[in-house]
Amino acid sequence: MKTTAISKDVQSAMTPENVLQDLLNGNERFVNGNAEGADNSALISQTTGGQFPKAVVLSCIDSRVPVETVLDQAIGDIFVARVAGNFENTDIIGSLEYSCKVAGSKLILVLGHESCGAVKAACDGVELGNITAMLENIMPAVRQSAEEIEGEANSSNSEFVAKTVENNVKLTMDRIREKSPILKDMEDNGEIKIVGGVYNLHNGKVEML
Ligand SMILES: [Zn+2]
Repeated sequence: MKTTAISKDVQSAMTPENVLQDLLNGNERFVNGNAEGADNSALISQTTGGQFPKAVVLSCIDSRVPVETVLDQAIGDIFVARVAGNFENTDIIGSLEYSCKVAGSKLILVLGHESCGAVKAACDGVELGNITAMLENIMPAVRQSAEEIEGEANSSNSEFVAKTVENNVKLTMDRIREKSPILKDMEDNGEIKIVGGVYNLHNGKVEML
């Protein structure tokens, strides 16, 4: 049971590598049915005056991937930015910069997931209201997959969808580095790491790319 929130000193002593290991350990506890659980009342009172999260996760809105739950994290542990298809834009990158540069987080985890509805819709060229413009963010991954995967280039091809989920995570990581000199410098200096993973809907595991 987690009873102590992360303090500034504890956060400062963490490295990007041990934060990643910590999140993967949490995912392993979740998968094995050994989630640590948390004393939320204690954590609420300890974090009222401030927060020192160890990581920021950029994930999809999918209801099957509740980020804190699948990584077994508690109040004060992680920032989470969510948008359908877990891609970056100016507001998301601003949120990531806030997390790392201002609030001291050590890791950016871009977390895609199996059978992502947004990715499938992008694969199929869906057009509907504001969804059309949103899906444009995923199209570079779709176009890359079309060069890499044989067969149908749409959501009927599960191999095509899986490759697009993976490409979308990798391209999002690349674009975060391109569009944010702040985060790129922090990564080059070893202050943070930018990593990518895919959540498996079948077994609850996060598989790192
Ligand atoms: Zn999704």
